[in-house]
Amino acid sequence: MLDAMLDPSGSLAAALAAVADACRVTRAVQANMQRVARIVKDDRSPVTVADFASQAVVARRLREALGTPPLLVAEETSAYLRNPENAAHLDATLAAAQEAWPEADVTTLLDAIDDGASDTHHAGFWTLDPIDGTKGFLRGQQYAVSLAYIERGEVVLGVLGCPNLPMDFALPLDRPDRHGCVYYAIRGGGAFEVAGDKPDGRPRRVTRLDHAANEPVSVCMSVEDSHTSADGVAAVLARLSEMGVPTREPARLDSQAKYAVVARGQADAYLRLPTKKGYVELIWDHAAGALIAHEAGCAITDIDGRALDFSRGRRLEKNRGIVAAPPALHGRLLSAIAGG
Ligand code: AMP
Ligand code: MG
Repeated sequence: MLDAMLDPSGSLAAALAAVADACRVTRAVQANMQRVARIVKDDRSPVTVADFASQAVVARRLREALGTPPLLVAEETSAYLRNPENAAHLDATLAAAQEAWPEADVTTLLDAIDDGASDTHHAGFWTLDPIDGTKGFLRGQQYAVSLAYIERGEVVLGVLGCPNLPMDFALPLDRPDRHGCVYYAIRGGGAFEVAGDKPDGRPRRVTRLDHAANEPVSVCMSVEDSHTSADGVAAVLARLSEMGVPTREPARLDSQAKYAVVARGQADAYLRLPTKKGYVELIWDHAAGALIAHEAGCAITDIDGRALDFSRGRRLEKNRGIVAAPPALHGRLLSAIAGG
């Protein structure tokens, strides 16, 4: 149940419904992973199908709830599916979308995907990663559906569906959970968690306590070595140790589930240290997760200590890498990075 004070425009309710639909779709594709890969004769096709179908059901739900086509900046376009050579993918995408949108047909499906082709030149727009952490999705590990609203360069609403993330800290992060969880935040209104399979259940406020200097620091980072510098993270942890801060072995998981894991206190920090010179982060890879961690009480900047600047188009052109952690630890991490 949503607090009406927190969501007078109904945007949050619409975003939560949209992400819940998308998670139903991605879960169904994941359950049929082998079958989908066989139909379309391509090991990567489950992610293709799930990406397109997730984007379609989110756009459709936003359009329906808001009464107009959403200004939506999303990762996919329909061009691939409109190519007759990819008819098998189109059929599989339609079948996947119908999991949450039974009346969908080819035309409404493709149009809904194209609702995601807006640009960022508006005072306010939605941004969506229909499947963040595609490699995690293919491995049957962590991935997220990430939807946020950006207003005048600031993320004001974020919803992160984490279908494979267990709520229970005792369960392993690298194995898919049956229930999953959803995190959401409105700027200034706090961050909240609900069970993935009970989206109408009572939300729990997520508050991140600061990190005590004598507690060992547990960092989380990408699974993929190409997305973050594992050597760089090891060097930062070594410097923290030299500063007298004990450290643990980093946890590795895909997607913005990392922001959720830090927001809820399961890990102390999320570090994303650039591997490739010139790589610029995409807004939909950070908007929802960063707001949720911020609203839980974390500080989020790039590795130079700059605030994330969402006013520069589809990418965080003014930023390099990510450091998300409770404030005191965040400062120590920036010092350790700067000292390298
Ligand atoms: P993660 O699951 O944290 O490893 O991040 C997944 C995201 O990394 C994808 O959505 C991509 O947009 C993004 N990505 C792709 N290439 C790179 C790169 N070279 N450095 C950082 N992120 C990347
Ligand atoms: Mg992504």
